Amino acid sequence: MSEQDFYEVEPTEDTVGTTDIPEKEDPEEYDQICYMCRRPERVAGKMIRIPNDICICQDCMQKTFDAMNNPGFSMNDMMGMGKIPNVSMIDLTNFPGATPYQPKIKKKKKEEKQEPVIDIRAIPAPHKIKASLDDYVVGQEYAKKVMSVAVYNHYKRIASDVDDGVEIEKSNMLMIGPTGSGKTYMVKTLAKLLNVPLAITDATSLTEAGYIGDDIESVVSKLLAAAENDVDRAENGIIFIDEIDKIAKKKNTNQRDVSGESVQQGMLKLLEGADVEVPVGASSKNAMVPMVTVNTRNILFVCGGAFPGLEEIIKERLNKAASIGFRADLKDKYDKEENLLTRVLAEDVRKYGMIPEFLGRLPILFSLEALTEDMLVRVLAEPKNAILKQYQKLLAMDEVKLEFEEAALHSIAVKAKEKKAGARALRAILEEFMLDIMYEIPKDDDIGAVTITKDYIEGTGGPVITMRKCR
Ligand code: ADP
Repeated sequence: MSEQDFYEVEPTEDTVGTTDIPEKEDPEEYDQICYMCRRPERVAGKMIRIPNDICICQDCMQKTFDAMNNPGFSMNDMMGMGKIPNVSMIDLTNFPGATPYQPKIKKKKKEEKQEPVIDIRAIPAPHKIKASLDDYVVGQEYAKKVMSVAVYNHYKRIASDVDDGVEIEKSNMLMIGPTGSGKTYMVKTLAKLLNVPLAITDATSLTEAGYIGDDIESVVSKLLAAAENDVDRAENGIIFIDEIDKIAKKKNTNQRDVSGESVQQGMLKLLEGADVEVPVGASSKNAMVPMVTVNTRNILFVCGGAFPGLEEIIKERLNKAASIGFRADLKDKYDKEENLLTRVLAEDVRKYGMIPEFLGRLPILFSLEALTEDMLVRVLAEPKNAILKQYQKLLAMDEVKLEFEEAALHSIAVKAKEKKAGARALRAILEEFMLDIMYEIPKDDDIGAVTITKDYIEGTGGPVITMRKCR
């Protein structure tokens, strides 16, 4: 046996993953958690490390010693069960493989003097942010512009640590737009471009603490998970709360409004900036889960909703204004106007049922347009990861060229519009037509190209199949 053979050991279950901390990670970066009381080091104080990576805080260690010094001590005494003869304490260190599960919490960096996680010099100017958004999001020019400026200012605000008495207000946003107009998509794209963690929650799942549903603070817990438990990264992340219109104040109700107004009330502190104790690696608090404090001061909150019926409120306001005074206009001037949502004001949203304190903490209010047929066609083909491009790539792997007639794209857009779900309907419709293509094409190696025609989409014909000329 050569020397090399001797040293080369095949990795086995025993040699792989025996430690929680991969080699590259610096264990100093993580907070230790007491194995007994589950409190992190920053709360419980210095830990005493015993073999097998088990940490015990000084309080628990002291309690253990006190209990053991007690004459007649047994493990059962510690558990409050009275004494049973011949039962002694189990020493975990005697079990070499029994390393307990220790969740890891990244240590909070020391205040100040640290390099900011997000360096303002690295944050691109608003026009550059918008240009990047343009690669992915079709239309919505105004929304993209507002968002780019708001995000730029937000991160500038984080970077400005000069205490000259001028505190820049937070740029939390409220975006209003019909389903499938790209609200979630824009926030997702933005978070990806900025490389910050993002948590997406549905306001309908939130309830006031103590009721069935998620606590309001669970959104911060989600963000922490998205930041891989790195508190610093989470504190500069983005939280998107969808369906915010569903927590509008209910009109004419005598019951306690646990999922509406009180959720808005409960969110106020979070939106403004507060220290929140959140469980690590779980969505609910319990004694076994370590807790960590996250400050929401620099977290960017974006709320989104479709606000059905808001147009009526806007129309009412506009018509009222138009019919007053010398310049009185036709009373129903705005009845036929499309995209009334673009004229939204905070007072309309307040009338809808959002409380003023809540709106005050979301100073950037803007709306998205409903996607038109032409925009839907562009959504199909233009974005960097457009659906058509995805199918073309899939078929290219089979060396088949996939093409779409312009008229076919319009037919798909018309069908999508009928479903009233915006761009969201596009994929489902296309999938239905592509299923047969994706199933049949790989059967025949001689097929070189497929063209999706308008007739195929409308059910009056089939796709055009072109065979390879010579092989
Ligand atoms: P909502 O406004 O309901 O949050 P989404 O953002 O979830 O809608 O949109 C659903 C999908 O539709 C997105 O994943 C995206 O692929 C597509 N989409 C919607 N709007 C646009 C748009 N303006 N440009 C490009 N794609 C879009």
